[in-house]
Amino acid sequence: MESQERKYYVCIRKKIHIKGLVQGVGFRPFVYRLAHQLKISGNVENSNDGVHILAIAPENVMQLFLYLLRTEAPQASHIDEIIVSDEAFDFNDNSFEIISSRNISDEITGISPDIAVCSDCLTDMKTQTHRLNYPFINCTNCGPRFTIIEDLPYDREKTSMKVFAMCDKCSGEYTDVGDRRFHAQPVACSQCGPEYELMLDGESVKDINFILSKCSSMISDGKIIAMKGLGGFHLACDAMNSNAVKRMRELKTREAKPFAVMFSSLERINENCIADEHQKQLIVSWKRPVVLLKQKPGSSVCGEVSAGLDTLGVMLPYMPFHHLLFEHLKTDAIVLTSGNISDEPIVIDNEEASAKLGPLSDALLIYNREIYNRTDDSVVFSANNRERIIRRSRGYVPDMIGLEFNADGIFAAGAELKNCFCYGKGKSAVMSQHIGDLKNLETFAFYKETAEKFKKLLRVNPAYYACDMHPDYMSTGYATGKGGEGIISVQHHHAHVASCMAENGLDEKVIGVSLDGTGYGDDGNTWGSEFLICDFEGYDRVTHFDYIPLPGGDKAADEPWRMAVSYLYRVYGNELLALDIPLLKAVPLDRIKLLMHAIDKKMNCPLTSGAGRLFDAVAAISGICYTNRFEAEAPMLLEAIADHSVNTAYPFEVKETLHFDQTIREIVNDVTELKGKSVIAARFQNTLIAAVLEIVKMIRKKSGLNKVVLSGGVFQNLYLLENTENRLKECEFEVFSHTRVPSNDGGLALGQLAIAARRLKGFK
Ligand code: ZN
Ligand code: ZN
Ligand code: FE
Repeated sequence: MESQERKYYVCIRKKIHIKGLVQGVGFRPFVYRLAHQLKISGNVENSNDGVHILAIAPENVMQLFLYLLRTEAPQASHIDEIIVSDEAFDFNDNSFEIISSRNISDEITGISPDIAVCSDCLTDMKTQTHRLNYPFINCTNCGPRFTIIEDLPYDREKTSMKVFAMCDKCSGEYTDVGDRRFHAQPVACSQCGPEYELMLDGESVKDINFILSKCSSMISDGKIIAMKGLGGFHLACDAMNSNAVKRMRELKTREAKPFAVMFSSLERINENCIADEHQKQLIVSWKRPVVLLKQKPGSSVCGEVSAGLDTLGVMLPYMPFHHLLFEHLKTDAIVLTSGNISDEPIVIDNEEASAKLGPLSDALLIYNREIYNRTDDSVVFSANNRERIIRRSRGYVPDMIGLEFNADGIFAAGAELKNCFCYGKGKSAVMSQHIGDLKNLETFAFYKETAEKFKKLLRVNPAYYACDMHPDYMSTGYATGKGGEGIISVQHHHAHVASCMAENGLDEKVIGVSLDGTGYGDDGNTWGSEFLICDFEGYDRVTHFDYIPLPGGDKAADEPWRMAVSYLYRVYGNELLALDIPLLKAVPLDRIKLLMHAIDKKMNCPLTSGAGRLFDAVAAISGICYTNRFEAEAPMLLEAIADHSVNTAYPFEVKETLHFDQTIREIVNDVTELKGKSVIAARFQNTLIAAVLEIVKMIRKKSGLNKVVLSGGVFQNLYLLENTENRLKECEFEVFSHTRVPSNDGGLALGQLAIAARRLKGFK
């Protein structure tokens, strides 16, 4: 090829193939403008595998062009790879053009997540006559993407905007390369685009100004509105009105689980919460996640919003409608919670909303553009100045995660709770949005449907199915039903560690620490505090928290007092009944005795090493929480209550396994001596950090390994995560933790995928 380079040209010719998230983010107009500025001739086109550029320019200009392509790229874009080749091509024009999209292979490029409305559009919404207060305004830099995409390449006909014919004005903008809406697929205006409709007392109204003033006056009056969002319906009410929030809890039968709150501005968030620079960056990012912050004492957001916890999940407006609504609202903060019934997926369909959310709300606000891919609001927090994801959905999905190896054609089924699945596509992993709890029938239907949608969108036909070892997981059943011969079963905590390795680009032996709730162990016990030496191919379980009966099995996770009795019975035997601790008054004595009997007789008492269960026990022994009102309430309260000025810890013992008998004894002493709960909570967490440090040091001494990988749901505990990381770093370990997928079971599928890929031959 090199010989064909045309030396008689002053200019050189390059083919440039850009892979990554480069579609639906204004990339082609950006390339076009750049080429014109630099007087480069050639063309740019979208194809299913990325953006292709032909460029003719003098050498130095070409270098500058390649440099600026990376450094000036649109903010929502993400370049994985730029492949430059010298291949000769016929091009004799000195213009630079955008040419239409092509489909050339089964390769695909990144698919853009949804992007919060940009500031230019907010200005246009007040100045462009055809978009005055138009709540579906968008441009190449912002707007719905994944939620409306049915197929690739990303073109209007392949989105749920296809039913809206562009008016002359919109199509003028769409085809004008100098316009910010050039090839903005969801482009629309008040004349031609989707519209809202408010259903109230059997009437329906479409006038947006009426809708806005009505919705805001209803919210001021303490009413609840079911409103269609970007990825599904929300229920909204005034976050500063405790009666409204209480009523929302009653209607949703959601006793205490915290609600997310949308604020009108960052200033209002600052008045109510404590946010450092990194947290502010997360809040204002175009992904607009719910960010967990410490709520300030005296905040005007009522206590019912995050009952008992010291944190508040906050977000900023991301749809044009949210901005318009806050212009009318008297309150600065509204609860915005998923529009669903108990554990069902968030409602996306207008009719279903009317049937299911109608009874839970005082008015129903719908619009006539279909949501094709359901997404929830994503939830994140900041630890050691890095983003940590708790729920990965809107704004994050379906951004791909680059792998060091090929995983093409593998489907990883994920866990049971907080399920996300994952597909391998070449050397990338594509995680689904948060699906939820698969035990719920509707959620499992959503799982199956979304797995099919991704298969089509990603053009994959899986030959291998990776899943958890747990025989009763619905996801395991799905994989075994599909996979035939190509099933790869993966141990739960090995998958957790592998997930963290994969997102950090590690492919070697490491020390893996998985502190978790529960997962199926390969000895049939319920694991959950695993210290592994592992790579993708396999693992050695070096040690774990000593096994203890889990009285009542799954019930134990809902009722922390059960684990308290289990630990106390182990330490004190029958003497436990003579202890002077509030637990013995809070739980009827006959229930405690019955449980002791069950433990003796090994009735429904599987053995567990779950770290989450030790949190439960300590929360109940110290009187913080006896029964969970929502999943993991006890550990969350324990985290919230801890006094971080306390730096002492309790004793523990390292034998073959880790023993916390002495820890429990000292906690009981502290409780009897009426030491504060906040002191006990802090000391207990310090104990765990010290225990992790000691074990990991021991493993380093024996194995020579120095890379430590932290994973599992317990690492959603901010205090534990930050301090474990920092203490390990002080001891000169290289520490790796999650930032791109959740450390909880929502990240599990990535680990399953990586393990499957490396175990299979031919996947180098
Ligand atoms: Zn915009
Ligand atoms: Zn229009
Ligand atoms: Fe787990």
